Amino acid sequence: MNLCLIEDDLLLGRALAATLGDAGYRVTWLRTVEAAGRWLDAEPFDAVVIDLGLPDGDGIDVLKALRRRACVLPALIVTARDTLQVRIDGLDAGADDFLVKPFATEELLARLRAVLRRASRRGAGDPDGLGLLTVGDLSLDEARRTCTRAGQTVNLSPTEYSLLQQLMLHKNRVRTRRQLELDAMPESQGQSLDVHMSNLRRKIGSDMIRTVRGVGYLIEAPGTP
Ligand code: CA
Repeated sequence: MNLCLIEDDLLLGRALAATLGDAGYRVTWLRTVEAAGRWLDAEPFDAVVIDLGLPDGDGIDVLKALRRRACVLPALIVTARDTLQVRIDGLDAGADDFLVKPFATEELLARLRAVLRRASRRGAGDPDGLGLLTVGDLSLDEARRTCTRAGQTVNLSPTEYSLLQQLMLHKNRVRTRRQLELDAMPESQGQSLDVHMSNLRRKIGSDMIRTVRGVGYLIEAPGTP
């Protein structure tokens, strides 16, 4: 995950960059509105963590500029300004969440995970979080735990359902075997990932799930180049 951290305070910035780096994020640490403008245009970040009080302007303006370009990059504000108006302004400007300094790093990491999760749901064609995931003519209704392909109900086992859900939440991205085993079959004993996957393919059609040899699987809409 590629993170943009915009924080002008040297001590805090250094500590946050280290914490986020330890948590496995690749961090680009910037300290001004001007640098943020340049980098956010050029680099495909997965999320931005942004301070409001910056030496050459306000983090809110960075956010507003992003959203004006219809950029949906997940954004988490971290600020010492804790007033209702600041929160409202931040959310209105397009922030996904808001964290008041000082905060525990565990909370920052948890909020960031939540923001990224919501963003991956949007990417999976579920902008309102209603729990309906779609890829091509394949749909998963998370509220009812049902699956349909071209309008026809497909009966899945709980493990098959969980595997498909993980693939659809991250469509067009490879999920590694380890990720799938951890997320979708934590208590599964006996049958291997490959057996579940082969059953799943038999039920939903073999054209949806692609094997990435030695790595894992991904789901893509049929006809995707
Ligand atoms: Ca600041």
